[in-house]
Amino acid sequence: MSERKTKKVLILPGDGIGPEIVGEAVKVLEVVNAKFNLGIELEEGLLGGCAIDATGVPFPDETLAQAQAADAILLGAVGGPKWDEIDRSIRPEKGLLGIRSQLGLFGNLRPAILYPQLADASSLKPEVVSGLDILIVRELTGGIYFGEPRGIDKTEDGERRGYNTYVYTESEIRRIGKLAFESARKRNGKVCSVDKANVLEATMLWREIMTDLGKDYPDVELSHMYVDNAAMQLVRAPKQFDVIVTGNMFGDILSDQASMLTGSIGMLPSASLDINAKGLYEPSHGSAPDIAGQGVANPLATILSAAMMLRYSLDMNEAAEAIEQAVGAVLDQGMRTADIATEGATQVGTREMGEAILLVLS
Ligand code: NAD
Repeated sequence: MSERKTKKVLILPGDGIGPEIVGEAVKVLEVVNAKFNLGIELEEGLLGGCAIDATGVPFPDETLAQAQAADAILLGAVGGPKWDEIDRSIRPEKGLLGIRSQLGLFGNLRPAILYPQLADASSLKPEVVSGLDILIVRELTGGIYFGEPRGIDKTEDGERRGYNTYVYTESEIRRIGKLAFESARKRNGKVCSVDKANVLEATMLWREIMTDLGKDYPDVELSHMYVDNAAMQLVRAPKQFDVIVTGNMFGDILSDQASMLTGSIGMLPSASLDINAKGLYEPSHGSAPDIAGQGVANPLATILSAAMMLRYSLDMNEAAEAIEQAVGAVLDQGMRTADIATEGATQVGTREMGEAILLVLS
């Protein structure tokens, strides 16, 4: 058997439930690494609140160096009430925004897939969501989360005011649009571009560029939708969508909304890719401080993020599929963490869920 080149994966457990869920994903990675002879080397680093506690900043230089040297990165989640009151410039979330922008991770892929076993866990009627398979492509390094000027200051009258800037360049729009069209080609060939072009100039340009780009993809059906309508359509008839492409803030909100259609935010992986498909992989949810340390968090979004990492950045499809099938198998067995619990199912904690996956894999 030919030897694979070693691949370096940086593990960033982060804060809150991060270390608990990442711990299970790491065990899964170790098992597939051995089983499929993948040659993955794991290294751990600091990002977020834990990095602030250890070094004073949320994204230490050492983590940047580790991330640059890695082939892919697996992150838990960052943030929590402990760091909510500290200076805005060094909050945990700054670490996340920092790693995304420093590594040029402009494209966030967030699948919202409803596992048939969980149709009852959705807050919508099963017939509205069963078979749901949406991919939200969110621009991640531009838009209002990064635009300048920004700040909180005082008007001439002495009243405090807060402001941010919604800005996109043509090349930023083309880059994310391309990722969306290419993704649609591998799926059902439909892109819906979401904007607020009736009000915001930046998104008027967005719509113009998407329309122009669409001409290069005659095989992909392009539609446009205002974000308020998209929010409504996502709950009314979500199966009309295949790929949704949108800016940073709208994507942030719509992908959380889409996640709930599937029953739990605890089930949804995500990938953030650079231009060469090197990526940061993380669950779509946050650090869930309300349940941290209780051993009840759902580790499946993180385990599925690890599977996405194997597929998109490391070209290890067989191992990715094995993990995804193992997730389906434990759901078939009736295993459920509290967030996806349904009547008659076996309620398990974080570790038991991880162990059930390992059992299927080994
Ligand atoms: P959250 O996603 O952490 O939690 C929202 C709700 O979902 C909570 O009730 C939580 O218990 C539940 N939940 C989340 N993940 C779960 C899981 N795996 N299993 C079971 N239940 C789960 O969002 P929030 O409460 O708005 O934010 C909490 C903290 O996380 C904040 O500090 C926020 O800034 C941070 N955050 C981080 C990221 C990230 O690291 N990518 C993303 C969003 C929020």
